[in-house]
Amino acid sequence: MKAEELFSGDGEMAVRMREKDWASTSLGPVDSWPHSLKTIVRLLLHSRHPMFLWWGPQLIQFYNDAYVPSFGKGKHPTALGSSGHETWPEVWPIIGPQIDDVMRHGKASWNVDQLVPIFRNGSIEDVYWTYGYSPVFDESGKISGTLAVCTETTAHVQSERALRQSEDHLRRVMEASGAGTWEVDAASGQMQADARMAALFGLSEQSGFSLQQAMERVHPDDRERLRGVIASAVAGEMQGRFRVEYRVEGSAGVGFRWIEVRGQVTFDAAGKAHRFVGTALDISERKWAEEQLAESERLRGRAERERAEVERLVLMGQMAAGVAHEVNNPLAFVKANLSFLAREVDSEMPSLDRTELQSLLQETLQGVLRIQQIVTDLKAFSRAEKLGEEEQGALEDALREAGRLVSLRLGAGCQVELELDPVLPAVRLSQRHMVQVMVNLLLNAADAVDQVRPLRPPRISVRALRVEEGVHLLVEDNGPGIPPEVLPRLFQPFFTTKPPGKGTGLGLALCWQYIARAGGTLHAENRAEGGARFVLKLPLAGAPGTSPG
Ligand code: ADP
Repeated sequence: MKAEELFSGDGEMAVRMREKDWASTSLGPVDSWPHSLKTIVRLLLHSRHPMFLWWGPQLIQFYNDAYVPSFGKGKHPTALGSSGHETWPEVWPIIGPQIDDVMRHGKASWNVDQLVPIFRNGSIEDVYWTYGYSPVFDESGKISGTLAVCTETTAHVQSERALRQSEDHLRRVMEASGAGTWEVDAASGQMQADARMAALFGLSEQSGFSLQQAMERVHPDDRERLRGVIASAVAGEMQGRFRVEYRVEGSAGVGFRWIEVRGQVTFDAAGKAHRFVGTALDISERKWAEEQLAESERLRGRAERERAEVERLVLMGQMAAGVAHEVNNPLAFVKANLSFLAREVDSEMPSLDRTELQSLLQETLQGVLRIQQIVTDLKAFSRAEKLGEEEQGALEDALREAGRLVSLRLGAGCQVELELDPVLPAVRLSQRHMVQVMVNLLLNAADAVDQVRPLRPPRISVRALRVEEGVHLLVEDNGPGIPPEVLPRLFQPFFTTKPPGKGTGLGLALCWQYIARAGGTLHAENRAEGGARFVLKLPLAGAPGTSPG
């Protein structure tokens, strides 16, 4: 058989074999080759499966087109017709003995995904092969060659390894998360669970268990809710995703534990649920911590309410004392005056003339009016009086009157300094309330400056500024100022720092109420130079009303 006939075909290796000068190899010209060699070479050339042949004592090499890609760049095409150990020096320690076994003892071999690193593409590469070596006999029955039928499996091995790595990674992540995993077949209700999930439910993992069995471990109070969640997911809500927290009875003696289950229902082509997969995580510690927190919040709330109640009772007591004190004074002289008048009426020789009698009656009436005023102010706390048009006040008159009243209380040598913008408009606060507010602020200022006497001469001032929206009033003193812890409580009813009988703590609360009702604001601050400043902002009489909530 001529070379053309033997190496027929259009394949690359057929062409190369035709062109090869075989006469210069130890095999000699093609014509002289044994029949067995020609047969096997032909078989190899016409096979689409990668094959490689070593022939004769020199192990001269043949391989087919299917084998070529495994060479990469480097050995092909010089490997054709070369000797095995010349082509494969780097793997000869592995394959040399195997080939030797075949050649000498006819021992065939089979290796699956065997690592045979070869030199290709410029470096030694880890290449995996599944390959078999088998002997090829010549006409005399002697082993003359080794045929390697092989498949490179590098890509397969690598993807398997990547898969294993990603499975490993997933397993480690699952382990780290502490979650158990489970899967339910929707048709049979059979549940596959890992050891963690099984332990959570106190069920044995190996035998698997039914959804029904798992359900029986769920706290009776949580079962309906869980069924509802599963039913919604099966019905396709949230694309079949669900997340639910419930209690489950774990291993005996452990009691109920809280678990959080996240799952996903998968549906078949017809849209029917066919399996659920998911995780289960023990969240008992978190749940118990939450319960403890809620309980302590509840206790804190109760303590807070109790404290507020006690405070209210204390305030009521203080108010009662304050009111009693406020009322007592006028009551005392009203009572004394009336007894005196009664005696006078009975007396044969009245000691008072008509004018004196009138003045006494006037004084008594004043006392009654004062008591009435106190009662009215107390009532003012419980209801919001409607602000009528007649409530508008002439500011200047009110300020002067309040100033005069307080200067009397301060005694000689201390006047309330008034600094008023020339034309003050009417504001939305009745003159009566205006006087009351100013008297309250000024009496507090008088108490304050008393505390620093005689260290420095007392100074109390009132400034009234016309601003666009209305009038700003500033009441300032050079007393000790307001301690920071007192500032936020200043306007609370019954808050006082004064001794019993001296203060009721109603003054500022009332002022605040009157001003807020008129749509104004009142706040207090400390002056940089010492002492307190109360800032009162009042809207114009005609301005639209803003009644406080
Ligand atoms: P009372 O005067 O009956 O105590 P108030 O409501 O008028 O009630 O005042 C509450 C508290 O505000 C006072 O007890 C006092 O501590 C503080 N306070 C009010 N005005 C001043 C001021 N000008 N300087 C310092 N503290 C003040």
